[in-house]
Amino acid sequence: MMADPELKSGLESDHLDSERQYQQFKKNFLKGKCYLCGENITRCDYSKPCIHWLLRAHKRIKKKNIEEALKTKELNQIIAYLRWVANFEENLSQINDFEAYEKRDGLVYQETIKYSNLSWTFWIKEGDLNGHTGKQIDFPHYHLHMTIDGKNFISFGEMHLPLTEYDIFVIYARIGKYPKIGFITPHGESFSDIFNFIPKEELLDGMVSSGDDTNAPFHLQTFIEAKPGKMLKGEDIAKIVKEHNETKIPLAVLAKKLDANTKVMISPNKLVDPVLREESKKGR
Ligand SMILES: [Zn+2]
Ligand SMILES: [Zn+2]
Repeated sequence: MMADPELKSGLESDHLDSERQYQQFKKNFLKGKCYLCGENITRCDYSKPCIHWLLRAHKRIKKKNIEEALKTKELNQIIAYLRWVANFEENLSQINDFEAYEKRDGLVYQETIKYSNLSWTFWIKEGDLNGHTGKQIDFPHYHLHMTIDGKNFISFGEMHLPLTEYDIFVIYARIGKYPKIGFITPHGESFSDIFNFIPKEELLDGMVSSGDDTNAPFHLQTFIEAKPGKMLKGEDIAKIVKEHNETKIPLAVLAKKLDANTKVMISPNKLVDPVLREESKKGR
């Protein structure tokens, strides 16, 4: 896929590095520790700002401390960290970045991540990439909204956090600006990543039906339609339903045995709602 060998080896070493980092993260997180600063997650040492403060495990952590902590890392690193945390609690369903892939007027990126009683929404509009002129915010930045127990802790307009050139590259990669480059955070995948990068057939092949509908990650809808001029026999459908019940192979896969047109829709069974910004004030 990559023609440039230097770029390729760079990406491979990035991948190895992120795998190593994830293992560090996991080992420490299980013990209630932060792999970045080595402190307990519940600890807040004002002299050592760290993005584990985003988990606000200590009441002493105020907005301004979080702002300070955010400035110690790039946005792509912050998102990777929070996605690891979210997926650690429950895979896929706590990250909603579908908006990031949708073209909405002026919106460049949006992502909501949930963990425990907390949620963070990252938001970038076109204007944010240039800065807001005449307002001393003349640098590329992103906005953050954070809730605790469903109540606003940090509101969208409150912080203008700098974006690096690499952050902007990653954002453009994610929204498909470079046709040959995709971007995925290993262990920090979202549903939209899965849908974008894994072909539907492959995804279906790996699935088994779960008896437990509320906790299954995916929801499948299978449409079966008779081919023109042909009839579908009820007994044939009954047969694959029976096989499905016995083998747990999704109906969508078994339906291919029928002489019929089938269409499958895969959607998340459960997904955190995105936090949308109210845009009453001049589109900032
Ligand atoms: Zn830390
Ligand atoms: Zn802004």
